[in-house]
Amino acid sequence: MRSAPRVRDTPARTVVGLLIIDAENRRARYDCHRLDCPQLREGPVFGAAIPEWATTVAAEHFARYHQGDRP
Ligand SMILES: [Zn+2]
Repeated sequence: MRSAPRVRDTPARTVVGLLIIDAENRRARYDCHRLDCPQLREGPVFGAAIPEWATTVAAEHFARYHQGDRP
């Protein structure tokens, strides 16, 4: 059996931030790693607010603080 070609797992963009979700304590925060960032940390948010926040925080952070760039 031939193995299918694998899609290479190369990131399409540079990692410039880190989303940290603490499932045990049910809190989350976002750390921005850009040197020119005026707001290096977003959050924390807690509990039920986490899932929705986590899907939008990076985009919203970039829209707010790094206009013209993308997360
Ligand atoms: Zn930032």
